Amino acid sequence: MALDIDSTLTSNPQFRKLRLRLLLSFLGVLVAILGAGMAAAYQAVVYGLNRQMDDHLLSLASSSAHTMDIVKHEYEELESNEHYRPYGKRNPDGALLPMTLAQLMEKYEGTVSSIFPDNFHYAPQGVEWYDETRRLLIREGSLFADWALPETIAPAGVTITQQGIRTFTLPTYILKQDGEPLMTGYIRVSHSSASLETELRYLGWGLGLGYVVALGLTAIGGTWLTAQSLKPIASSFEQLKQFTADAAHELRSPLTIIKASIALVQNHPERVHPTDAQKLATAASACDQMARLVEDLLLLARLDGKTATMAQEWRAVPIDEVLEDMMEMADIEASQRKINLKSHLLPEISVLGDAEQLKRLFTNLLGNALQYTPEGGTVTVAMKQLSEEIVVSVQDTGIGISPEHLPLIFDRFWRADQARTHREEGTGMGLAIARTIAQAHGGDITVISQLGKGSHFQVQLPATPSS
Ligand code: ADP
Repeated sequence: MALDIDSTLTSNPQFRKLRLRLLLSFLGVLVAILGAGMAAAYQAVVYGLNRQMDDHLLSLASSSAHTMDIVKHEYEELESNEHYRPYGKRNPDGALLPMTLAQLMEKYEGTVSSIFPDNFHYAPQGVEWYDETRRLLIREGSLFADWALPETIAPAGVTITQQGIRTFTLPTYILKQDGEPLMTGYIRVSHSSASLETELRYLGWGLGLGYVVALGLTAIGGTWLTAQSLKPIASSFEQLKQFTADAAHELRSPLTIIKASIALVQNHPERVHPTDAQKLATAASACDQMARLVEDLLLLARLDGKTATMAQEWRAVPIDEVLEDMMEMADIEASQRKINLKSHLLPEISVLGDAEQLKRLFTNLLGNALQYTPEGGTVTVAMKQLSEEIVVSVQDTGIGISPEHLPLIFDRFWRADQARTHREEGTGMGLAIARTIAQAHGGDITVISQLGKGSHFQVQLPATPSS
């Protein structure tokens, strides 16, 4: 008979963790690739725009450089006139002196328009002519840098960007008769970098928005892809779980028959040969252990992913009472094994859940603590209420667990070699069941342990709203 274990893998906490991890890794990789791609695209555009502006500044500076000789000549002529000083000063008649190249070069018709493109005056830019002593001669345009020329200027020119202005300063030369170049002055071209910055800001916003949209789409696609890729795993997990549940269920009846038969024979010791009595006892104990294992497997198969169905039957379970009952029962074993059993319980605290399962959870932890604590040791069960959870801790001064074993202890069937000497009949399922129960109740178990010093298990469970 097949057992309906009524479960879906999607509600299994471990499966959900695996799915989340896969999704996050997938998203992480895509976020990094997308981010790097967009950063590279942004940098390429920044480089391209800067390059475009630099080309423009260079071409303006080069064409302006051709006029350096005439500008200097005209300027010197003006300067030789005692009343006639350029730059904002007026001559004694009150006439405005030449401020711009166009005014200075009036007689050289067409020179200015041949240097500057038609749209030169529409753009926020300007050109300045300096002589070789760095004295400003004349300027043309609407935007000029208000800082001095850079101290060192390479023959190929220097670019400086500050205060929203990009400048390019180019030294000008003529060739002397002996073929040696002679520096005649400097041309400084300035252009507002504000429009470039605005363009880059828009680009940044555009890319940022694109990134967010791409991330959203990636998240949707990633979730779908992860679900698709996990489908085969989910289906084989379901099959495996169904098989475990069916096998465990089918093993129950033959085991009961074997147990009953052994008990029947043991009830008539006169019919048993004395040398076989011990063998019968061993068979009965092995049978008990197997029955426990079968029950554990069945419980685990039922617990896996059945949270939603189980939750409908949950009631408020008074945890302090569950622990008190358990302590009373453990008291006998503790005193037989000369272990000091202590408790610090809080009254009237309940957890929404299945009373039997919660009892099983704490019994497994306390059973382990007693089993793995040698004579004279102490086992303490304590409760603590935090704002949204209840923490039950089971602490012992026993053999402890080595750090490399800690990640394995909640695995099904895992037992430390050392544990076998303390508890022969263990199946390695106790902690797996305890954690599954805790997780099925929306909680978890954590452990801190030190080899030779003891272990401290903590069960976190969500507190019921009224508690
Ligand atoms: P079992 O006790 O049946 O072997 P469990 O699943 O309960 O199986 O525990 C798994 C293993 O974890 C044990 O075999 C033991 O090695 C280790 N362990 C569990 N609880 C303790 C404890 N309180 N102190 C030391 N070791 C422990």
